[in-house]
Amino acid sequence: MADRENARRETLVRRAELREGVSRPLVTPLLQSAVYVSPSIETLHAQYGGTAQGYTYAREGHPNADLLARKIDMLEGGEGGLITGSGMAAVTAVLMGLLSSGDHVIGGDQLYGRSLRLMNQDLSRFGIGTSLVDAGDAAAVEAAIRPETKMILLEVVSNPTLRIADVAGIAKIAKARGLILVVDNTFTTPRAFRPFEMGADIVIHSVTKLLAGHADVTLGYVTARDAGHRKAIYDFAVTTGLTPSPYECWLAERGLYTFPLRYDRAEANARALADHLAGLKGVKRVIYPGRDDHPDRARAVELLQGRDGNMVSFEVDGDEAAANRMVKAVPELAFAPTLGDVATTLSHPGSSSHRAVARETRAKLGISDGFFRVSVGIEEIEILLDDFTRALAAV
Ligand SMILES: *Cc1c(COP(=O)(O)O)cnc(C)c1O
Repeated sequence: MADRENARRETLVRRAELREGVSRPLVTPLLQSAVYVSPSIETLHAQYGGTAQGYTYAREGHPNADLLARKIDMLEGGEGGLITGSGMAAVTAVLMGLLSSGDHVIGGDQLYGRSLRLMNQDLSRFGIGTSLVDAGDAAAVEAAIRPETKMILLEVVSNPTLRIADVAGIAKIAKARGLILVVDNTFTTPRAFRPFEMGADIVIHSVTKLLAGHADVTLGYVTARDAGHRKAIYDFAVTTGLTPSPYECWLAERGLYTFPLRYDRAEANARALADHLAGLKGVKRVIYPGRDDHPDRARAVELLQGRDGNMVSFEVDGDEAAANRMVKAVPELAFAPTLGDVATTLSHPGSSSHRAVARETRAKLGISDGFFRVSVGIEEIEILLDDFTRALAAV
């Protein structure tokens, strides 16, 4: 009978408040709640009016996203950054949150594949014009400017040929012509390059890659110098639901603690691997911004100041069958089209990111059937060099 009485006053579905004590958790709590409880109507008015701090609904913001955003703000020297559900969500929020029908945007012609697709195929459906030009050529960028041009979107290091954009030259033009300069800093990361210091107005990341670093979350980040831009990007992202889950933000924050250590180790490995590959039989050419034979070496030194990154590309002397033999020879080297994981991954642009690109265009870019891109991880270097020695022996 007593149990029944209790059951009337307490119900399983109503959440009890967590007991607070004099201690606190060491680790950031994961706050999965999709909704927040306010004590009164007047408090809710104060929250929406900005005179009281408090979350309302997780699509509009939640603690795990904010904690992660503040850490990336710190790395980039920005403020008020927003975490999005993916890197592409961040790119989309910038392009569609700030541009309108009739506007025009210029992009590098070797941007990330989906960014290229968004610019080429999707923006035009909304009346936004696009031009794609060689980001290594500031004069070509200037020549593409039209009266209705509003924005330039760049990546510092191109994918997969690792060419270096003329960010300094293009930033000067953007400033003189009043254009919004957006830099996708995913490949370079703030360890190698800080776009705001170079004159960028907006910085984007695929947090999925090196920042989270364990290939187990899909997230993005964006912030702008201008508060009006930040608000427009935020409103577009929240309205269209480009926002992230608490769990992924929690995982990414955990990954971020070791980002500088991972980056430094992966970069040292990449440097050693690039030199090792250059000495192996069956390797036609190696592309690494830290090598003297890189086509944009002077610009790499100027922009990256010795932080040459964890990405190495190379070409084997052979056709696709030879490339395939190499992939199969060392299954421990993960053949996967991503980057920034703790483990080294190998990708073959001709059959993945660039499979839809016409053969002649690929040839012009130097992406042959024997072209590989390596995202170098943090393994012991001896293991890595040995893996590639065995892989190349199969070519
Ligand atoms: C991966 C990547 C993106 C897209 O990020 P997702 O998190 O996969 O959506 C955008 N830009 C660059 C340079 C990337 O490498």
